[in-house]
This record gives sequence, C-alpha cells and structure tokens, in this order.
Amino acid sequence: MRITRYAAGIAAAGLLLAGCASEAGNQAQDDAEETTAQVEEVEFPEGSTMAEIVEAGELRVGTKIDQPGFGLANTAGDPEGFDVEMAKLIASKMGLTEDQITFTETVSANREPFLQEGRVDMVVATYTINDKRKELIDFAGPYYVAGQDIMVAAGNPENIEGPEDLAGKTVCSVEGSTPAENIRTSYPEAELVLYDAYSKCADDLRNGNVDAVTTDNVILTGFVAGAPDAFELVGNPFTEEPYGIGVPKGQDDFRDFINDVLEESFEDGTWAEAWDSTAGAITGQEAPEPPAVNRY
Ligand code: GLU
Repeated sequence: MRITRYAAGIAAAGLLLAGCASEAGNQAQDDAEETTAQVEEVEFPEGSTMAEIVEAGELRVGTKIDQPGFGLANTAGDPEGFDVEMAKLIASKMGLTEDQITFTETVSANREPFLQEGRVDMVVATYTINDKRKELIDFAGPYYVAGQDIMVAAGNPENIEGPEDLAGKTVCSVEGSTPAENIRTSYPEAELVLYDAYSKCADDLRNGNVDAVTTDNVILTGFVAGAPDAFELVGNPFTEEPYGIGVPKGQDDFRDFINDVLEESFEDGTWAEAWDSTAGAITGQEAPEPPAVNRY
C-alpha cells in the first residue's frame, strides 16, 4: 500500500519542488526532502509499452481472488496477497498509484486468452512458467518457486502420502492448470474432478465429495491455514512450479522492465517484506531465497 502511495506523492512533490524550491520555507524543504528521497524515475521511452500504460493512466492486472496468501478478495472486494503486492510494486515503479490499478479475476484457464485478447496488461496469478504457455505469451520472473502437493481431510483418512496413492481416489484440481495436466498425464488412475477455481475444490474436500485436492503447495497451505481442523497438507511436493508474470507475447520492453523491478525488489528487501505481510503472515513461513530471474 505504502509503496504505491509514495509514488503518487513523489511525482507531485517533484513538480512542486521544481517550481518553487528557492522560495520554499525550511519546513517545506524538510517535507520535500523526505518525500523526494523516494522519487522514482518514471520517464519511459516514447512508444514503449510502459509509456503507453502510463499514458492510459491504468495498469490492468489479472489475478486470482480465491487463493489465501496470493490473491484473495477482501470484504471490500479488493484482492490481497503476494501476487497482488507484486503487481502493486510494478505499478509503483511506473509512477502509478494503487487507484490506477484495475484488478480483474483470472482463473487458471483464461490467463493466456486474457493476455492474447489484450484484456489485461499483465497476469500475476500463481502462474507457472512453462514452454507450452510461452508459445502464446511471455513471462517475466520467476519471482517464486512452488511445487505441486496434495491436500487431504484432517487426519488423512485415505492415507494419501503422494501422487501414487491417488490411484482409485477422487482428486480435485482446476481446469487449465499445470497440476491438473500432471495428474491427467502422469497419474491417470486418479479420478480427476475439475473446477475453475481452487476454492471450489476446497469446498468439495470439506464436504467429503472428493478425497484430495492437488495444486501448488503454497496455495494449499493458504487453505490449510484458514481451516486447520478441516484440512491437512501432505507436504511432499513432486514438481517445480516457477511463478512468472505473464505479459502479451513480444512485449520485450515491458518484460525487461518487470524483470528489473523484480531483481531490485529481491535486493532491497521489498520482495521479502511483501512475502512477510501476505503468504508469510498466513502460513508463518519465512521468506525463502528469491529465485534467479530468467531473461530468456
Ligand atoms: N501454478 C500452477 C499453474 O499455473 C497451478 C496454480 C494455478 O492454477 O494458478 O497452473
């Protein structure tokens, strides 16, 4: 929150300063110094993707709204979480305020189409970087590496310890996701139940309609943290899911810019702070070592 507000205040303070610095009183100068210390350079080359977005005055972001810790709508309907913080960070580095971000729900299956159709400028939504998706869109990042895991009912009544134990069991996941695809291709004896969003899988597990839910460990950890009496994480991750920020294919300038912002946030602690206030706060897990950005 603070980060983006700074960016707004900064631009205004910068202009004021340029106009009347010589006449400013001591107090005003002190105030200005405090603010200008945070000044971001927000000039982008004409015609660049960033300049166009700034010109439009709006950064359109696709995210999840039902995943605690990464993207979850609060009571006011605003999404909160680590992914949301990544989006706010990028906006702030473009000199855009939080009010200038428009969040749109993207579920797993419509992330590529939303980028291809130009409905959003970027997608930050527990979005695994992989070659198949790279044919359609581009990825900045990764900014986190998750792993596919399994969530079961508390007490693990079906004794599910890993994906092999899913044979003959019902397991819920989400259409268009890498974990669903992995079950389909590598564990075909599991009976896959598919929805458009993971909260529906969690409901099904709670009601006893399925034996397990599978997706990335960090998503499942968020559900377990919210209902430890109902759910349990198997805790045996069996894939690598590097999370990227999706952008329309060919927007290399925007991708480079986002990669720069990510790397800077890894260095200056902003990334770890974002983790601590979102996913980390929910699960009690410390911020891990940030991954290396892959400028493919
Ligand atoms: N990271 C995986 C994916 O991108 C699973 C999480 C999700 O569906 O958002 O498909």
